[in-house]
Amino acid sequence: MSISRVLDDQDNLTYYIAIFNDITHKKRIENEIHQLAFYDPLTGSPNRHLLRDRLNQAINVAHRENTQLCLIFLDLDRFKEVNDTLGHGAGDDLLIEVAQRLKNCVRDVDTVCRFGGDEFILLLNDINEKTVIEKAQTILATVLKQYVIQNEVLTLSASIGIAMYPRDGEDYATLLKNADTAMYGAKENGRNAFRFYQAELDGSTMRRMVVENALRNAIENNELWLAFQPQICITTKNLKGVEVLLRWNNETLNHPSPDEFIPIAEATGLIVSIGEWVLKESLKQAKLWLDAGLEPFTIAVNISARQFWNENFSSFVHSSLLETGVPPHLLELELTERVVMREPEAIIDIMNELSLLGVKISIDDFGTGYSSLNYLKRLPVTKLKIDQSFVRDIESDNDDGIIVLSIIQLAKALGKETIAEGVETLGQELFLFENGCDTIQGFLHARPMAITIFESWLDKKLCE
Ligand code: C2E
Ligand code: CA
Ligand code: CA
Repeated sequence: MSISRVLDDQDNLTYYIAIFNDITHKKRIENEIHQLAFYDPLTGSPNRHLLRDRLNQAINVAHRENTQLCLIFLDLDRFKEVNDTLGHGAGDDLLIEVAQRLKNCVRDVDTVCRFGGDEFILLLNDINEKTVIEKAQTILATVLKQYVIQNEVLTLSASIGIAMYPRDGEDYATLLKNADTAMYGAKENGRNAFRFYQAELDGSTMRRMVVENALRNAIENNELWLAFQPQICITTKNLKGVEVLLRWNNETLNHPSPDEFIPIAEATGLIVSIGEWVLKESLKQAKLWLDAGLEPFTIAVNISARQFWNENFSSFVHSSLLETGVPPHLLELELTERVVMREPEAIIDIMNELSLLGVKISIDDFGTGYSSLNYLKRLPVTKLKIDQSFVRDIESDNDDGIIVLSIIQLAKALGKETIAEGVETLGQELFLFENGCDTIQGFLHARPMAITIFESWLDKKLCE
């Protein structure tokens, strides 16, 4: 509406003239133009122009508020093969689905841009490196889930390069270039991986790179070895099982701890071959102990998400059991609660396959993730492993005591066993005993030990 004022000199009156215009059509066209100019027609995602706009704004905000930003460059691996074998229609459907999944991985304030072809760029606001790593892992796992496109079941992976503002660049062009460079690094690394841009190699990135490179040859160079930590029945004090914990004998790097090298192995995909090695070696060792006439005990092996989602995981477990001749019920797989509950619906099938083999499954670090009770009931899980953070303060912190007690009761109600990890004191053991926990593991009884030390520990124990 536009209004004009008209003065009438003769009788000194003021008139107003209002003109209405229906501009619906004009607005609609404007919207369409905006849509065409700033969004990708196929996926409906922001295009590179809008990305540049948003990134510039985000940089201003981040600069003012002294926060970090992250630009993730994602390129689908072998997308061209889909296009070539199934046709462009299938390729398009796949891109739409990928765009949707990516959108579900980020917050509303973030941007998922289709950059072109099979490339996507994610702009994440106000974020630190640790969260970026978690995000990158989530994104890789999300892309990796199966697709059903035109009645065909497909799998797809992605390579991700990451640049952080302000560390890796302070403007659109630099950040983009560096994220792209990092993405190529991830591709070279065997795909289905993420990489941070590495400009000047500061202490921690340098260390990370060196560790990563050394890890590639660790198996061949016989640097990896297994430590075994006893799991003890809380009532009889008998040995019920051992947890296998990976160790890396590398003097130059000062023997990196699993907390340092396992995340690197996971990020680079090396965990798949390392994990296979751990499982095989553990079973071989178990067989030696059985053949030596020891009373059978469970071998608990930690399994990473990347291993578990590997297509052939359950058949690998199956063939390893057959090859080594270890009865399946003596193998227990430890999966963390976070991994299990991230995609419980998808995990059920694989878990069922494994439990059909007769293998046991326990949920590690229980209490630190967000378990859905409904899934907990449905999953073929035999044991909950109470996280050591609760056990540590069981005596002093009333809340932790209550949490541990509730986990034990929950497990009982669901017909599952409990094991507590990180038990260091008699007080903790007593608390767990009085509250009905089945098994304990921790420094109180034994540290993780090399084979020979474990064997003499066991000898001594049997003589007690
Ligand atoms: P986790 O599975 O939660 O393993 C338990 C960790 O607690 C081990 O650390 C163990 O040495 C430590 N621990 C055991 N008893 C006590 C105690 O009484 N007090 C304290 N403070 N700590 C105790 P470790 O060996 O350094 O392993 C760290 C993590 O690395 C493991 O956590 C696991 O997530 C991962 N890891 C180790 N070996 C493997 C492996 O073969 N495969 C995979 N995927 N992950 C592994
Ligand atoms: Ca564990
Ligand atoms: Ca644990």
